[in-house]
Amino acid sequence: MRFTSKIALVTAAGNGIGRALAERLRDEGATVWALDRDAGALASIGGVERLAMDLTDPAAIAALPAQTGPIDVLANIAGYVAAGSILDCDEADWARSFDLNVTAMYRLCRAFIPAMLERGGGAIVNMSSIASSVKGVPDRFAYGASKAAVIGMTKAIAADFVARGLRCNCVCPGTVDTPSLRERVSAQAEARHETVEATRDAFVARQPMGRLGRPEEVAALIAYLASDEAAFTTGSVNVVDGGWVN
Ligand code: NAD
Repeated sequence: MRFTSKIALVTAAGNGIGRALAERLRDEGATVWALDRDAGALASIGGVERLAMDLTDPAAIAALPAQTGPIDVLANIAGYVAAGSILDCDEADWARSFDLNVTAMYRLCRAFIPAMLERGGGAIVNMSSIASSVKGVPDRFAYGASKAAVIGMTKAIAADFVARGLRCNCVCPGTVDTPSLRERVSAQAEARHETVEATRDAFVARQPMGRLGRPEEVAALIAYLASDEAAFTTGSVNVVDGGWVN
């Protein structure tokens, strides 16, 4: 078991990719702190420590290390998808995207890195996306800009602490079948006056494999990056996209 005696904090653990990751790390022996603003979703995950909180609250993040103690793995999964081009993106949309996708991630890293360094290191895995500096995706303006910032933050942290045992990597998924993806499909279908099936088919058509990704397939990559098996890997941008950008 790769995570025996390791302590991991996973954000967005209530649903989708974060949930699949929390369950995988738990099953591989980790003590998992599962964090989500949705207490109901957290309640249905067994065998983890639960943290019901909103990551846009800086005081709550600052108080976290005292509650969890030092951790070995920080998996920053939470993110918000704003739809639309720059012309659709008002100040509130822009701020909301960066508040969660970038600033909360910065605060979490800053809160936990000191104790990681004191213990000789740790592993951080940040959630980016294909829609980032990897690829321009239509109608993902604020989202793509914020997920590109995640790649920059990941590389900067990796460079600063490369000689002190701390690794920092990010993952860039293509389209993954999760509750938030299903919500986006429904919202887009309504906005474009199409059927939900037609909109979903358009999302699937972006994926050359002819199917969406599964949360477990992304969680498997994150678990590898978080494990000691990836000890020689830091500052890396890991695409898991069913061949979308190939
Ligand atoms: P999801 O909706 O299935 O789950 C997200 C979880 O995050 C929910 O349980 C929600 O309650 C929680 N959450 C949202 N805002 C929060 C906040 N402010 N504080 C605490 N918890 C909060 O989402 P998902 O599709 O698994 O996406 C997870 C991450 O993966 C996101 O960063 C997303 O941008 C990224 N991603 C997803 C896809 C995809 O196609 N699904 C593709 C690329 C990247």
